[in-house]
Amino acid sequence: MTTAHWLFGDQLGPHFLAPGQEGPDRDAPVVMIEARSVFRRRRFHRAKAHLVLSAMRHRAAELGDRVRYVKAETYREGVREAVGSSPLTVHHPTSRAALGLVRAMDGVRVLPALGFLVPHDDFRAWADGHGGVRLRQETFYRWVRRSHELLMNGEEPAGGRWNHDHDNREAPPAGARTLGAPAPYRPHEDDVDEEVRHDLDRWERSGEVSFVGRDGPRRFPASRREARSALRRFVGHRLAGFGPHEDAMLADDPVLSHSLLSSSLNLGLLDPAECVGLAEDAWRRGDAPVNSVEGFVRQIAGWREYVWQLYWYFGEDYRRSNALGHHAPLPDWFLDLDADAVTARCLSTVLAQVRDTGWTHHIPRLMLLGSHALQRGWDPAAVTDWFHRCFVDGYDWVMLPNVVGMSQYADGGRMTTKPYTSGGAYVNRMSDFCGPCAYRPSVRAGAGACPFTAGYWAFLHRHRARLERNPRMSQAVRGLDRLTDLDDLLEQERRRGNGPP
Ligand code: FAD
Repeated sequence: MTTAHWLFGDQLGPHFLAPGQEGPDRDAPVVMIEARSVFRRRRFHRAKAHLVLSAMRHRAAELGDRVRYVKAETYREGVREAVGSSPLTVHHPTSRAALGLVRAMDGVRVLPALGFLVPHDDFRAWADGHGGVRLRQETFYRWVRRSHELLMNGEEPAGGRWNHDHDNREAPPAGARTLGAPAPYRPHEDDVDEEVRHDLDRWERSGEVSFVGRDGPRRFPASRREARSALRRFVGHRLAGFGPHEDAMLADDPVLSHSLLSSSLNLGLLDPAECVGLAEDAWRRGDAPVNSVEGFVRQIAGWREYVWQLYWYFGEDYRRSNALGHHAPLPDWFLDLDADAVTARCLSTVLAQVRDTGWTHHIPRLMLLGSHALQRGWDPAAVTDWFHRCFVDGYDWVMLPNVVGMSQYADGGRMTTKPYTSGGAYVNRMSDFCGPCAYRPSVRAGAGACPFTAGYWAFLHRHRARLERNPRMSQAVRGLDRLTDLDDLLEQERRRGNGPP
């Protein structure tokens, strides 16, 4: 008898149903469960709830009679309703909580994880071989490139260099309000979206669920067909320009040349191998320069893969890391995405992007939202929860390393060699935010003091003892000794407290 197969809401691509020794039975009946408790527990961005539900229901519509789609309070109840006590298979879920659940359920056989390039065991062997303590993304990434023969010419990296970061960190073109890249793919809503909106409205009206953010027209793919169109559009029209301005920020052009593929990858609608494969093909055809293709491959085969592996490798306690002893609660203006309450133009613009779309690219996440949280000493677990709830591509596995490690340095340097934070000078160099802003990036204390410049020095002062031992930070920390107005600055920051900057 064929065993039914359970698809989680981030396992929506066809590869999750490929039969085989390590896959479900051929033509296995499919079970999908929409668990309301997931939305009740936390205040998610409404656009994210919309996207996830829309994607699940689109997949169910594709599978037709093959799927039993159950709307239940919890996963356990849903499984009971769908198959009773009959056996089930499921691919390794992406969170520790879900893995614990499926392992604890009688009759559920857990198949290997899909949706990533490197199997867990291979990573563990690699990491243990590298001491397991101070792992570095760059070393991992080169190992993936070699072992998957990705963007290689024999033993050598294509284009003669492993790393093209140097060409990919340009400031925005002077005076430009947009990069002028061809527009990204945008989906059209359909009946499924209408039904989802109707349900979300109903849940909100009844008071059982509360959301944050705006649920404008859906901006991200909800089906395999849409995700493939988005990928083709990106590789065909936007990949060539991906590299140079990867780190730039423009108020009127939030997307620049970024791919907008993270939600599709994380919903399982796209497989990373097909994304990097198409990008490499574009380079081999001469359609995109090596720095752009390498930059994109690095994001997927390097960062995304690394973050996934570290989530499992670092263990459950990692989420409670708080090496800097930060305990301040997140203020309401931040929790509510109240961009209008914020004066600092950079933070206000980016918070509005999150409020309106549930997305902003990696530099605003790291160097504005995350950096501000770090400078203010907000509790890293609460910051992680905020990112998870407010971003369309946020999942437990991707949040923990990115926020606890990369952005909040709460792991004390297991993931990065130094905290990622800066003063206003960096923001000014990499964006067009500062010109019309009420604050001046060069002013650290007194009228017009930039919250990032002041926040940077206050952060260095607070953690001086730790940071001066870090070779990548010691010079910056010594800069504190040259500040004649440090006391004024610290008093100003104390008065500013947790209010909107
Ligand atoms: P592109 O710039 O076009 O990059 C291509 C792809 O690379 C992305 O689609 C994504 O799949 C992958 N990628 C790149 N960097 C990372 C990374 N650090 N971790 C995982 N994947 C990566 N990414 C998420 O997918 N979900 C998140 O919840 C998330 N939260 C983040 C929080 C912080 C504080 C930071 C610093 C980064 C976070 N990222 C997250 C990584 C990155 O910001 C997003 O993947 C990216 O901005 C998504 O936009 P894009 O698809 O246009 O990416």
